[in-house]
Amino acid sequence: MNLHEDVAPQLDDLHLVVDRPLIISDADEVLVQFAAGLDSFLRDQGLYYDISSFAITGNVRRQDDNEAISGDDVQALLKAFFRERTEHLPAVPGAAEALKSLSKDAQIIVVSNVPVDQRDARIRGLKKIGIDVPVIANIGLKGVVVREIASQIDAPVYFLDDIPHNIASVAEHAADVHRIHFVADPRLARLIDPAQDCHTRIDDWPSAETYIRDHMRSKGY
Ligand SMILES: [Mg+2]
Repeated sequence: MNLHEDVAPQLDDLHLVVDRPLIISDADEVLVQFAAGLDSFLRDQGLYYDISSFAITGNVRRQDDNEAISGDDVQALLKAFFRERTEHLPAVPGAAEALKSLSKDAQIIVVSNVPVDQRDARIRGLKKIGIDVPVIANIGLKGVVVREIASQIDAPVYFLDDIPHNIASVAEHAADVHRIHFVADPRLARLIDPAQDCHTRIDDWPSAETYIRDHMRSKGY
């Protein structure tokens, strides 16, 4: 499987060090509060995000009668949400501090499925919360892009994501990458079991930092 033609050129901008550990982090629901940000966006227009399952479609409801709106309407709203709010999402507590500390011993990049035309907004939004790292705007499951990036590294590589399909995709295409299933929002975290293909499930940054640091040390880094 090959990289998407809109994703491949973004990898040319990365300047990775071969023998330094690499942390590849998702953004939404790992570094920034996607669910909380989406709910607040929806509430401004008479809707809300009913976090009763991991899906978004079917869970966006009208405040006045609690009816779910259609899948097409949800897609249009998500587009508007990414356009208007990507730059302004609240931080996941401790994320910037943990990455800053880990950056002394590892290189860090973000691989996010934010729409490609919102990549710069994502970069600006992360900078605002103290995370100034390269960002790849990926399309589709993340296994292939992680494989391409990890193949340039001869040191431990870590991958963090909230979506089990992405964890499975990385397990399939880049089996050597250490996979941490991370779901920041406690309401979502309660709904979702540890991904089948993760090495560990951790939902807070102080614990993730300790885990990564201990693992790097066990590998001699
Ligand atoms: Mg995510």
